Amino acid sequence: MTIRSVLIANRGEIAVRIIKAAKALGIRTVQVHSAADAEMLAVKLADEAINIGSPAPKKSYLNIEAIIAAARAAGVDAVHPGYGFLSENGDFADAVEAAGMIFIGPSGEAIRLLGDKVAAREIAKRAGVPTVPGSDGRVADIDAAEVIAKHTGFPVMIKAAAGGGGRGIRIVRSLAELREQFPLASTEAAAAFGDGGLYMEKVITCARHIEVQIFGDGRNFVHCFERECSLQRRRQKVWEEAQAFLLPDDVRQRLCASAVALAAEVGYRGAGTVEYLYDEDSRQFYFIEVNTRIQVEHPVTEMITGIDLVQEMFKVAGGAPLSLSQSDIRARGHAIECRINAEDPAKGFLPAPGTVTRLSIPEGEGIRFDTMLYAGYTVPPFYDSLLGKLVVWAEDRNACLDRLAAALSNLTIEGLPTTIPLHLALARDPSVRKGAFHTRFLESWLETDFAAVDGVSAEVA
Ligand code: ADP
Ligand code: ADP
Ligand code: MG
Repeated sequence: MTIRSVLIANRGEIAVRIIKAAKALGIRTVQVHSAADAEMLAVKLADEAINIGSPAPKKSYLNIEAIIAAARAAGVDAVHPGYGFLSENGDFADAVEAAGMIFIGPSGEAIRLLGDKVAAREIAKRAGVPTVPGSDGRVADIDAAEVIAKHTGFPVMIKAAAGGGGRGIRIVRSLAELREQFPLASTEAAAAFGDGGLYMEKVITCARHIEVQIFGDGRNFVHCFERECSLQRRRQKVWEEAQAFLLPDDVRQRLCASAVALAAEVGYRGAGTVEYLYDEDSRQFYFIEVNTRIQVEHPVTEMITGIDLVQEMFKVAGGAPLSLSQSDIRARGHAIECRINAEDPAKGFLPAPGTVTRLSIPEGEGIRFDTMLYAGYTVPPFYDSLLGKLVVWAEDRNACLDRLAAALSNLTIEGLPTTIPLHLALARDPSVRKGAFHTRFLESWLETDFAAVDGVSAEVA
């Protein structure tokens, strides 16, 4: 069935992105929103808007009954969950289907299976994808944890089976620390994710985070190359690139093929991402998890391949076979995305919502700004601090960095502090230029180099 109308069960920049894709396909859009989001851009752009509850996410964007009721009332064919919120909730996918509508994503069963990071590790192993050395399955208790730690050596990570968004991960450096942290990690995971299950992984030091964009229709599976997301703060991505710089071609081919093998193993449907850690010295890559949704950083893949991933999601969910075949998917040039957050880099990245008094967005070849902002908009304090993503493309990485620095200098958001100064400093940094970084780079750079170029903030302000 071709999708003719869709309800967007999300907010912020991704809701705007989904509406744009729907409009391009002639699909009617219904935007749900909380009481705090009546003025958001997606509400203004959608054909219809429905208030589904009070600001607290539990009462609105995580409220399955309220969203299904809105979808029924609006008579839509489908629901797009975006990222975050209910996007990786298998019960939500089932509820949408049970109400006779299409969930734009994999089946509830596939989401549950791959969303359990321990089950996903087993699937990866079955598909012949290398995983990080660590526990087989969930770790039953502290005695079992000690046996595994003695085997992998320290430091070792305790990870929540149901974790996500950089949360539910602890590093332990000794047996004493393990004994102390293991019960805490379990209690915390149970409280945060409703599942206290834990597993363990060896810490891959100085690794790069490299992930592969996959797409399937249940029968055919392709990859749209890889992204590098090594610049992270608190295990959350800050800056992403496509393709991964300095990745040897033979490794790239094996990496992308392994992600397709994993997709085939589960008969994957829709857009997904297979995440890995890559150790440059040994040229080894290790599976870490699958995200069964569109990702924040999907635009860098779109910029290098020319594919509209969100439009493709609509088509495949509507029952069309994948319009892409692997040989048609080619990568050209280089793309970088900077996440622009309402945070103050000078105050330890304290979230700082407020009203946008002036907004000036750079335009030009290879420049894209996916945003929820408009001049006069007041950013509510209840949600993620992501305001938008500046995405820049050029023929090669150096040209891309030059264009990015220029675009960042021409991006003006007045009225609230943003992470633009951080990105400008990164775009000009010699190590970043060389591509010499790993997942621990940014945090130490923030303490040394960024502190030293604080003049940048003054310059931008
Ligand atoms: P990951 O880093 O796990 O690959 P992504 O970076 O693709 O995940 O994005 C998921 C994260 O985005 C969530 O963990 C959450 O912190 C954040 N998020 C969720 N919903 C929204 C939203 N509507 N707007 C902005 N950010 C969101
Ligand atoms: P989430 O579900 O929160 O996204 P991930 O398992 O994808 O969790 O890990 C998030 C980040 O944490 C990775 O990008 C990486 O920086 C770090 N990380 C995770 N596992 C390991 C590991 N075994 N060794 C080193 N770093 C890791
Ligand atoms: Mg992850």
